[in-house]
Amino acid sequence: MPQVEKHARPAIHHDVIVIGAGFSGINAGIRLKQQGITDFAILERADDVGGTWRDNTYPGCACDVPSHLYSYSFEQNPDWSTTYSGSAEIQAYIQRCAEKYGLHDHLQFGVGIAAAEFDDARGIWHLTAEDGACYTARAVVCAVGGLVEPATPNFAGMDDFKGEIMHTARWNHDISLAGKKVAVIGTGASAIQVIPAIAPEVAQLSVIQRSAPYVLPKLDKALPDLMKTTFRRLPFAQTAFRRAILAITEGLVGPAVILNSPLATGMKKLALWNMRSTVKDAALREKLTPDYEIGCKRVLFASNYYPALTRDNVTVETAGIERFTENGLRLSDGREIEADVIVTATGFKINIASPPFPVIGENGVPLADIWDGPGGKAYKGVATAGVPNWFFMLGPNTGPGHTSVLIYTEAQARYITQAIAKLLDDELTAIAVKPDIMQRYHEKLQNRMRYTSWTSGCQSWYLDEHGENHTLFPGLATEYALSMRRFKLGEYEVVR
Ligand code: NAP
Repeated sequence: MPQVEKHARPAIHHDVIVIGAGFSGINAGIRLKQQGITDFAILERADDVGGTWRDNTYPGCACDVPSHLYSYSFEQNPDWSTTYSGSAEIQAYIQRCAEKYGLHDHLQFGVGIAAAEFDDARGIWHLTAEDGACYTARAVVCAVGGLVEPATPNFAGMDDFKGEIMHTARWNHDISLAGKKVAVIGTGASAIQVIPAIAPEVAQLSVIQRSAPYVLPKLDKALPDLMKTTFRRLPFAQTAFRRAILAITEGLVGPAVILNSPLATGMKKLALWNMRSTVKDAALREKLTPDYEIGCKRVLFASNYYPALTRDNVTVETAGIERFTENGLRLSDGREIEADVIVTATGFKINIASPPFPVIGENGVPLADIWDGPGGKAYKGVATAGVPNWFFMLGPNTGPGHTSVLIYTEAQARYITQAIAKLLDDELTAIAVKPDIMQRYHEKLQNRMRYTSWTSGCQSWYLDEHGENHTLFPGLATEYALSMRRFKLGEYEVVR
């Protein structure tokens, strides 16, 4: 491997460095190889591929997007065991893909990037790892994921609590919950999966709910062998099935994010019916009725959540948490909730719009200054003006509210590899999207946000502190993917 001098230690150089080996980073690696770019490394701070599916192993963890859609279109798996596969099965799928596409020669584990800086004169990125190791690259694909670092609120008295505290994304499998008193804080996508999974084994489960979610039924079924055999023998049948799921999510769920649309109203009725048909206790129904518009927070899918809440050993607490105590929680209404274990299902520190380390673009200007605030801006979610040769996977405004995120990230991987191929083949020094192109794109997206339920007045991780949505794409996945078909150099400033 050639070495380039600039850091205190000699740097390892590659044409391309991909940061992160989750679904996005692996996809980028596969595409780079298919594009004929072979000198690349995928740097991963953990010890395995998989990202979110490696980290989230809490009981009940699964994807709420059907597996035949929540998988690479070019690597369909006829053997999914259920409609919505569990985290271990998805993790095994990602591992298989990394193996099959020969990425192990490119993967380096235990390398967490701590800083990145662009060298304008040479058109080279300098990356410094947490252990001081140095890397350089002509181009960087930043595939660090958006929901990575657990966010545990700093509740008063946490140190006083004598039991165990664990976040859903850092599940401690050494702790048995059998026969214990457990409190789960949060009722988001992770909580509604873990609650039904642990409710039967614990002695008492207290669900601490700040906002009631809208929950739609999840038609999760074991898939019959006949279907698997058919898909194995007739891959086009699986493609047709995948397209049908995409069409349903795009046609029925996607438009429902338009505020007060007939589909949104229909979906709200369905979610409330789903709750009322299961929960007969009027007081509990009142607690479980959301007080905001459907779609404002993520709409959840589960058929076992409401039944779990009606169990004798489960209570739903809606008073706020005043503090942790030695033996549990004290609520704002003065009651004490006893707990041996407290599960924080409180979500993640959002970095969809910004890498979790400083990035210095051209002329020494930090990415944070270019964005001038917490919310990110990137042309098509992948390229930011003033940050040449740097491409985001799952960057600003590219998350879906209604379908598989892989539709978006596959389109990004294709677009980004076209851009990098141009950079390398034409021996360009730097390419960075033109500022006016990025700004116009950003303003158009933000304008469309006004018609969505995301900005209809609730608090959610979709929004930054100014109430702006820098996470989701306000349109259909197909629209986004079509817009990403061709990289156009004319939209970029070029240094030759
Ligand atoms: P989340 O959606 O952010 O939910 C966090 C929960 O914790 C919310 O109910 C929140 O209440 C509550 N909370 C936060 N701080 C609190 C506090 N100080 N006191 C009381 N309650 C508090 O996090 P998540 O459930 O981990 O899900 C995050 C994202 O991960 C999802 O939106 C989804 O994109 C992804 N995910 C996907 C799947 C899947 O199946 N595809 C599964 C799990 C996660 P408020 O609502 O009032 O803020």
